[in-house]
Amino acid sequence: MDRLVPSGIGITPSWIDDMGTFNNLPRPSTEVEEAVFQDIFRAHSPEFLEFRQIQLPNEENEGIKDVHIFYFSDTAIAMVHPEGKHGTRYFRIGCHHQWRQMTKNELRERSVVFGRCIHASVCSKCGSENVVDSSD
Ligand SMILES: [Zn+2]
Repeated sequence: MDRLVPSGIGITPSWIDDMGTFNNLPRPSTEVEEAVFQDIFRAHSPEFLEFRQIQLPNEENEGIKDVHIFYFSDTAIAMVHPEGKHGTRYFRIGCHHQWRQMTKNELRERSVVFGRCIHASVCSKCGSENVVDSSD
């Protein structure tokens, strides 16, 4: 994964359109249930954690919210801390990947040794790649 630094002054991963600023979320973002965050967090460790103080889209009159953004290898979840009438809210950030298996030519181009235990996918929307060797 590309190395991230806070608030859009670094590299933007291929699966994020716009890193935004300290006062908004990266785009695209979609509100999701807590279970989505739990499912991702159960299987993956965040690679980067960022704090922002934001105004949510379409809620400009609701004030500034404290947010922690957990960046995983190919997605991110923003945890909006409870405030006022709202409890904790979660926003999934980045491409909603559509994975497909890489072709043998794509594996060769990336110097991935094809084998029964190699699972290699590419997102047809943003180009993110996921290569897992399940033999370990
Ligand atoms: Zn994607």
